Amino acid sequence: MAHPKTERTLVIVKPDGIQRALIGEIMKRYERLGLKLVALKMMIPTEKMIEEHYLLDPNWKKNVGEKSIASYVKKGETPPSTDPIEVANVVVANLKKYMTSGPVIAMVWEGAHAVELVRKVTGGTEPRSAGIGTIRGDFVLDSYQIADTDNRAIRNLIHASGSVPEAEMEIPHWFKPEEVISYRVPHEAILYDVEMKNILG
Ligand code: GDP
Ligand code: MG
Repeated sequence: MAHPKTERTLVIVKPDGIQRALIGEIMKRYERLGLKLVALKMMIPTEKMIEEHYLLDPNWKKNVGEKSIASYVKKGETPPSTDPIEVANVVVANLKKYMTSGPVIAMVWEGAHAVELVRKVTGGTEPRSAGIGTIRGDFVLDSYQIADTDNRAIRNLIHASGSVPEAEMEIPHWFKPEEVISYRVPHEAILYDVEMKNILG
């Protein structure tokens, strides 16, 4: 088994993150944890890339559709459809519009528990309810309520892989193998080496 320090996760700074001038702020959060940036590119994604990205996990549509219907019901509102797939199709259409509206930055971060820790620092999907101290909780105010009223995707600045298997599907979707770089940084010795050598004398 590969050492846990080689775990990788995909992060995308969405168009609103770039427009809000939060690129540095976002990258700082991951970098200061001790994670290592191993791939980076700026691009304007095509609708095809976005659609494929969200459909990499065959269960995603059903899950998002069900989650979305449940949140309408909880608010005492009528969902646009009772079919989770139809609801998810609306979410995907809105995501395509949102994610192709301007440049995005895709990156791969590497380190122990990279997937879990990036999600923790990023915060929950809905900025309104995302935790204090998280990027989505601290830097943006959008809610499902406003997004659904205006029939658009929720503006939450960032995409981050939700699980290790998701990361393993998403990274090759955005990067060729040679675009992900293996290299060392000195502070890895302090984070991971069994003994902390070369500090004294
Ligand atoms: P993430 O991994 O935290 O971004 O969340 P998901 O993978 O569950 O969802 C991806 C995207 O789908 C989100 O960024 C939202 O744009 C959209 N989405 C997810 N769940 C819902 C929902 O319940 N309602 C609406 N309107 N959009 C949703
Ligand atoms: Mg997700």
